[in-house]
Amino acid sequence: MAWDFSTDPEWAEKLAWVDDFVRSECEPIDLIVKESHDLNNPVRQALIPPLQEIVKDRGLWATHLGPHLGGPGYGQVKLALLNEILGRSECAPIVFGCQAPDSGNSEILAHYGTPELKKRYLEPLLDNRIVSCFSMTEPQGGSDPKVFTTRAVQDGDYWVINGEKWFSSFASLASFFIVMAVTDPDAPPYQRHSMFVVPAETPGINVLREVGLGYQQPGSGREGYVRYENVRVPADHMLGPRGGAFVVAQTRLGGGRIHHAMRTVGLVRRIFDMLCERAVSRHTQGQMLGDKQLVQQMIADSWMQIEAFRLLTLQTAWKIDQRGDYKAVRADISAVKAMMQNVLHDVSSRALQLHGSLGTTHEMPFVQHLVESFVLGLADGPTEVHKVTLARLLLKDYRPSPDVFPSEHLLRLREAAEAKFADKLAGIPRS
Ligand SMILES: Cc1cc2nc3c(=O)[nH]c(=O)nc-3n(C[C@H](O)[C@H](O)[C@H](O)COP(=O)(O)OP(=O)(O)OC[C@H]3O[C@@H](n4cnc5c(N)ncnc54)[C@H](O)[C@@H]3O)c2cc1C
Repeated sequence: MAWDFSTDPEWAEKLAWVDDFVRSECEPIDLIVKESHDLNNPVRQALIPPLQEIVKDRGLWATHLGPHLGGPGYGQVKLALLNEILGRSECAPIVFGCQAPDSGNSEILAHYGTPELKKRYLEPLLDNRIVSCFSMTEPQGGSDPKVFTTRAVQDGDYWVINGEKWFSSFASLASFFIVMAVTDPDAPPYQRHSMFVVPAETPGINVLREVGLGYQQPGSGREGYVRYENVRVPADHMLGPRGGAFVVAQTRLGGGRIHHAMRTVGLVRRIFDMLCERAVSRHTQGQMLGDKQLVQQMIADSWMQIEAFRLLTLQTAWKIDQRGDYKAVRADISAVKAMMQNVLHDVSSRALQLHGSLGTTHEMPFVQHLVESFVLGLADGPTEVHKVTLARLLLKDYRPSPDVFPSEHLLRLREAAEAKFADKLAGIPRS
């Protein structure tokens, strides 16, 4: 019976190297480089590309790519073990060539781009010579794509896009945008939108402002509020079939969600280490924090949450490898996606609490992690939607009870058991 939690020795050796490299090379860069996607920043350019070369030489560059894109096709379990190390550091994903949203956008381009678009955008994107933007959410609502109104109208050999998008990450740094727009307003809701590649230099793309997250300084945000005004793109810049934007979007989401989860495992383990270090360092009222039962409960709860989350993430990765299809593992991916927010939220809250006043400051990372936990619960679909998806998929396997009493009603079961053993028990006295 195959039921094995060990890592093959060759991969374990690579992971050991990655662990050391991320701790010693990537983590310090997080403290110096403000935006690892900014290819125009000389400090970033001095520090990150040399590390990328080392990763390439080691054969660990862009390992999420399948063989059709020149990647090693390692499979999700190996990627999970790798990503949980990368999750310790903000810049590690870009150092290893697997950063969002470029990883997902490259999968879309690989599936649906024309040879010319692939040459122009896919090759440099895979090499991190450019970065990209995925522009779908609109200011009036993100969880419900049926409310999106950005419109694309055909004009000869061009499509003309008008509308506003919100939280288009890296809009100001991107060389191209992947934009979802309504092309067929009268079609059924999920066949109204099409997906387009929009080159960044196209006239009419206006980044109204860059929205920052709660812990960021005003003006240092990277979530673009973008207005598209009469933006003209050639007809061959449509990705996938007309009306097929939702199918195209799914190309990026399955992999994206599970990779975020893998990285969250790494991040949350790092926070757990901070929590435990504090517990054995801080002395109050005659005892270490770690000697107090309420604190011990925080530690035990955190560990159980992290390990349960990690196991579900790894099992989901394993199922994707077995079935070779994200769709077949949709329930598991939704479960992992929904758990991500809670585990990061709960562990970083406890770590903040145990660090006392220091924990609330910008001298420790917990406030950022708390905000990030909400980001994890929003980006790629809110937690609630994933729980609904999970519940619906689970309920598909259930049928109503045969009558007003449940099928496991004890009287019903006992009656059936009596009938089953009637012959054997005939004549035996019973109390
Ligand atoms: C840091 C960050 C980066 C992002 N990057 C991108 C990007 O690059 N490109 C892009 O297009 N988008 C991006 N997004 C946007 C993200 O996809 C949306 O935030 C998300 O889809 C939710 O949309 P919304 O923010 O409009 O919230 P709303 O749709 O207004 O939802 C608000 C809340 O309502 C509740 N809710 C929603 N639906 C349901 C439901 N069915 N049942 C019960 N409750 C529900 C949830 O609590 C939800 O959080 C990013 C978001 C963040 C925070």
